[in-house]
Amino acid sequence: MQKEVSVIGGGIAGLSAAVFLAEKGFKVKLFEASPKFGGRTYSFFDKTIEAEIDNGQHLLASWYKDTFDYLKLIGSLSKLTFQKKLRVKFVDKQAAEYLFECPNLPPPFHLLAGIVKFKALRYSDKRALIRLVKLLKKDKLRELESMNTDRLFSETGQTERLIRNFWEPFIIAVFNVKPKDTSAKMFADIIKTGFLEKGGSELVLPNDSLSNILVTPATEYLKSKGSEVLSNCRVTKINFENNRISSIITEDNKEFKSDFYICAVPFFEFKDLLGESIHIRVVKAGNLKPSPIVNIHLRFEENIDDVFKERFVGLLGTNVQWAFRTAKDMLSLVISSAGEIAEMDKELIVETALKELKMCIIGFETKKLKASRVIKEMRATFVPDKESISSRLDNTTIFENFFIAGDWTKTGLPATIEGAVKSAKNCAAEIEKSINN
Ligand SMILES: Cc1cc2nc3c(=O)[nH]c(=O)nc-3n(C[C@H](O)[C@H](O)[C@H](O)COP(=O)(O)OP(=O)(O)OC[C@H]3O[C@@H](n4cnc5c(N)ncnc54)[C@H](O)[C@@H]3O)c2cc1C
Repeated sequence: MQKEVSVIGGGIAGLSAAVFLAEKGFKVKLFEASPKFGGRTYSFFDKTIEAEIDNGQHLLASWYKDTFDYLKLIGSLSKLTFQKKLRVKFVDKQAAEYLFECPNLPPPFHLLAGIVKFKALRYSDKRALIRLVKLLKKDKLRELESMNTDRLFSETGQTERLIRNFWEPFIIAVFNVKPKDTSAKMFADIIKTGFLEKGGSELVLPNDSLSNILVTPATEYLKSKGSEVLSNCRVTKINFENNRISSIITEDNKEFKSDFYICAVPFFEFKDLLGESIHIRVVKAGNLKPSPIVNIHLRFEENIDDVFKERFVGLLGTNVQWAFRTAKDMLSLVISSAGEIAEMDKELIVETALKELKMCIIGFETKKLKASRVIKEMRATFVPDKESISSRLDNTTIFENFFIAGDWTKTGLPATIEGAVKSAKNCAAEIEKSINN
């Protein structure tokens, strides 16, 4: 008989878990609390900007293999642009440009060649960087679990300029925190996956809205497979009986029963949903801390592609770290690890961002702003420091029909789309395994 699975939470983890299971022939019911699916990745039509915008610019990488499997299933893979080689242009406050480009050589030679030519670093910085990469490649570094990257950098002689112009922009982009809050173990693993394995380091850019790529095709796929997708349907209680979940209750007091249950809510909602007594049995470790991201969408009176020729650039030494051209007259600016900035008034954020843009990119002084929209995601990701490692949960639990998905589970990855999908794939595989046993 067809087995039924209830999935709680319609973010990328919940959607992809539902898709993987529907594809394997399960009957899936997806419960999403809010009116929209997608969780922390979504798009909407903004009346001020007069365009469809994303809640935050998302960038993928060529090592996002589970994400690509998910996108293949829902028919969205062609909506991504894959870089042929890693190429990022940086600009600084003096409008000087620095190209970081890794030629098509086998790893790690592509990275070494990119570093040698990267003019934002001097000879001594490059030597220090290559030394660290070699240590990582040869697995020569010990006790990485017990330190954050600031200590790793000081122990391996990473120079100030190297940290400022290379490691910090990289870490903030990937982990959404500064080096002092990034686990050295997670950093080392990402460097290995992204730079030391073949085909891992190129960037992958969305060329449609996040909802059109990651969300709507998934709900359509689920419906086509006979699954139910329920929005505005918050699960308020999970009923446990012995070592199983017996049912779940939604906010309109309806009870649903199925063979398996996947909880795919974010880390900050998990405890409330489980209830204190169960939470203590499932989670023996501490809690994760959130880190914000601020996204600033700007629409100009005229086209900007005459002065902003790249698809995106990295900014060095400014609050804004990335600028993406999203239309001929639009930019999306990203401030990750946005602690203090996220507390500022939106008008002041726009003013600060525009000032930085004008300093870094010649030609913006004459461009007139038409409209802006600031989106503050206060709990965009969790802080991936050394303490976070023991706070992340396995996808299986002590309850035999209960599984946990989400970017914050024990995937070894920072809070990313790939982490969310990887956790979902694990849950789907565990459910299949438990049927076959
Ligand atoms: C601004 C921003 C920029 C980012 N940039 C990148 C990037 O460039 N690259 C990258 O890979 N990642 C990026 N991320 C991270 C990425 O978006 C997340 O890691 C991923 O979307 C998390 O998915 P999730 O399904 O685990 O959680 P969520 O997206 O949080 O989904 C959880 C869902 O559960 C629902 N829910 C909660 N409680 C209940 C309940 N009781 N009943 C039913 N439903 C419930 C919520 O409404 C939500 O829809 C970014 C995130 C943000 C916010």
